[in-house]
Amino acid sequence: MSAGALRTEPKRINTPATIGDRLWNDIVSTARFGAADKGGVTRLTLTDEDRQVRDWFVTECRALGCTVEVDGIGNIFATYAGEDMSLPAIAVGSHLDTQPQGGRFDGILGVLAGVEVLRTLKETATLLRHPLTVVNWTNEEGSRFSPAMMGSGAFAGALALDAAHALADREGVTVGTSLDAIGYRGETKVDPAAFAAYVELHIEQGPLLEASATEIGVVTGIQGLRWFDVVVTGTEAHAGSTPMAQRDDALVAAAEIVLAVRDIARENPPGVGTVGFVEVGPNSRNVVPGAVRLQIDMRHPSEAGLDRMEAALQDAVVKAGANAELTRIWSKAPVVFDPSIVDAVRTSVEALGYSATDVVSGAGHDAAHVATVIPTAMIFVPSKDGLSHNEAEYTSPEECARGAEVLFQTILELDRR
Ligand SMILES: [Zn+2]
Repeated sequence: MSAGALRTEPKRINTPATIGDRLWNDIVSTARFGAADKGGVTRLTLTDEDRQVRDWFVTECRALGCTVEVDGIGNIFATYAGEDMSLPAIAVGSHLDTQPQGGRFDGILGVLAGVEVLRTLKETATLLRHPLTVVNWTNEEGSRFSPAMMGSGAFAGALALDAAHALADREGVTVGTSLDAIGYRGETKVDPAAFAAYVELHIEQGPLLEASATEIGVVTGIQGLRWFDVVVTGTEAHAGSTPMAQRDDALVAAAEIVLAVRDIARENPPGVGTVGFVEVGPNSRNVVPGAVRLQIDMRHPSEAGLDRMEAALQDAVVKAGANAELTRIWSKAPVVFDPSIVDAVRTSVEALGYSATDVVSGAGHDAAHVATVIPTAMIFVPSKDGLSHNEAEYTSPEECARGAEVLFQTILELDRR
């Protein structure tokens, strides 16, 4: 498709349209900060590559007339003035950090689309009633410093600032030191009460929109998850001299649990269940396994669904034998986005005439933390082949432009309300 065809058609809406090819140009050109070999990006949080893209973002937003503030964890808030500065701001954004050999779209689209909205407001001299803030959250990816979604977590009060500063990467370098090194340890305390709404545009990172040829996902929430460890204890024995009837094979029992996890997920749609780690002891061809450890990940959009899946897993573990032990080691409750913000997204998609479907996010996002302190929703656009955290991650110029247009229309819708 030619660059000209990326231009949105203003006639469909009585408001100025974002410019898709300008957004696309930003996506392509900022990918030089941490460019990876196969067309992707390696831009781990708080590295010099991250500093470069942050500097670009700050320069761009200042040139558009924004006030830029940085908080103690390095989150950047670029605010474009509204008509009534006593009103709380409408916030949009996402993250500019990537995985190692990550893509050009995960997180990046949500921030750059915000910049494109700012440009459109400025060049059309459109004044919103509310201030508009574009946010870049620090360390969404969690690949250098754990936990992921650190900046939004600190903002929402889920993570204490001092504790976050003390966290170290594999080389022993702390978050605090890294913030100082790139000049992004800010002083501003940004209060969630200063915002009326938060909307995050993001790529789907899954295959559903593409498979159903749907242009926009109206994200109603983020599925919850529970992590379990299972330890199955059997009896190590000689593989040649121990008759089948007299074996106490830990791996055979564990295999039944692996199959049960698959079945439990299938019986509780749209739940998913994965055994992603198996450790077998002693792990030798001619020894009947005496000990197996499994790591299980189960996800579902509702707490009730998670409860059903966990109860079924308990049954499956009991059935697998007296020596199987189940421990829940971590859980994250499902996030249900604010119905009024979700409705603003839906209304906007309808006004623009794009095909849309409600979706629940399979992956975690900054919006999960933000939703605990600001009414929040998300917008998804398709990911080619469902690929993400991969250099081949791809969303077309038209799809990115549509996402930005829906984001802008949602801002206008919220501004009117
Ligand atoms: Zn992301």
